[in-house]
Amino acid sequence: MVDRKSFDMDTYIHEIQNRPCFICEMVAGRLNGNHIIYQDDLSIAFLNKYPTLYGYALVAPVKHKEQVTGDFSIDEYLSLQRSVYQVAEAVRKSVTTERIYILSWGSQEGNRHVHWHVAPLPYGVQFRQQQLEALRAENGIFELSDHEMADLAERIRQNMALDM
Ligand SMILES: [Zn+2]
Repeated sequence: MVDRKSFDMDTYIHEIQNRPCFICEMVAGRLNGNHIIYQDDLSIAFLNKYPTLYGYALVAPVKHKEQVTGDFSIDEYLSLQRSVYQVAEAVRKSVTTERIYILSWGSQEGNRHVHWHVAPLPYGVQFRQQQLEALRAENGIFELSDHEMADLAERIRQNMALDM
């Protein structure tokens, strides 16, 4: 089992409110410790840098868009959801999970670039520790080395390629 470490929320909030958009930075090739799983003309998928669950991935449009539905035509939205589905299926094949969570949040005060969370709940988590509690970074995040993150991204990438 992978160890957990504490998460410094104040440092994180300061960072997301004072840095350039991290997703646009990634698209521009400045990874800043992020691990890309997949990218095409429309979407980019990458590992959550601060994973509260093992195998936690994020999917975003390549273009900087903010409103979860309002910045997309229905066709653009559904095309993006194709990637969300493919990433979710690849995550499901890559880690042991009882249930995949998919959600979008974010804030106009930080993390504005819209993205979808693909978060795999493992088996055996008590009901009260599921859902929002399972995603709460204050409960600690997984301590994964850069190498372990790269391996995980590669595993998800390979499982995704099998489906495409
Ligand atoms: Zn952006």
